[in-house]
Amino acid sequence: MTRHALILHGGAGARPERDYDREVDNMRAVVEAMKIRLEAGASALDIAVEATVMLEDSGLYVAGRGASPNLAGAYELDASLMDGATRKAGAVAALQGFRNPVRAARAVMDRTPHVMLAGEGAALFAHDQGLELIGDEAAWFTHAGKGEDNHPPGTSPDVLAGALSHGTVGCCVLDSAGRLAAATSTAGVFGKMPGRVGDTPIPGAGSWADGHVAVSGTGQGEYFIRTVACAQVSWRVAAGATLDEATRAVIAEIGSMGGDGGLIALDRDGRIAHPFNSQGMKRAWLTTDGEIGVEVFDQARA
Ligand code: ASP
Repeated sequence: MTRHALILHGGAGARPERDYDREVDNMRAVVEAMKIRLEAGASALDIAVEATVMLEDSGLYVAGRGASPNLAGAYELDASLMDGATRKAGAVAALQGFRNPVRAARAVMDRTPHVMLAGEGAALFAHDQGLELIGDEAAWFTHAGKGEDNHPPGTSPDVLAGALSHGTVGCCVLDSAGRLAAATSTAGVFGKMPGRVGDTPIPGAGSWADGHVAVSGTGQGEYFIRTVACAQVSWRVAAGATLDEATRAVIAEIGSMGGDGGLIALDRDGRIAHPFNSQGMKRAWLTTDGEIGVEVFDQARA
């Protein structure tokens, strides 16, 4: 039995009337590519970033190339990652103009004394680091899927704001050395106000990794912040809950507050959990015995 395992998500904003064949194929391809990298001994942190970059670049989710604009028409992207082995974290919030926010988060972690950079400062730093620009931002985003998943063409801003739909991406990894890592990246919820920052770039709320678990969230970020959703999974596991019980309890708490979304989580023994209380959650995984799974709807409702 190999020890490494992985679980990723493409957001909790799935709609039952839509077809997800492209996303299913894409998620499977990402897991297959990362399986080869993990077998070659890649670190959990590197794989969390690489998988998230592939999801950002696909244009199929509301992150990276698939980003959707805020109410002012600007693309403000959030991302974070956390390395369980060192408890280091990096994040960017309201970043504009860069292709892969998760790479900027990695650079904040590796090359600054800080955990999070926001707005113009984040963009200046990403530029200094030589990170890839979007180029012609308008053309780039117009070409992309723009999260069609969650906002069908013609949907009014009012409806979007009310629905607070979502399609974040994230990944949790256990490598063969037993290290855990998590990364999450998003353009946020539809109809968000300029300057709005959700849970995704906040370690503890949108991503978490320590020596016991790695967790990534997707859903109405305001609720994930108010429940410290991802870190809370770790605290519950430390108090004796199974990973499944811990993640379901957090989603139930979010649901009781009126929020929706889902969590993906992985523990140091390679157990996975992926509950949600939304209509669906795009997700795929690799188990420690090498099996790959992909789901959008079905089981795992919290
Ligand atoms: N949680 C993200 C946010 O609130 C949205 C999502 O998961 O799609 O920004």
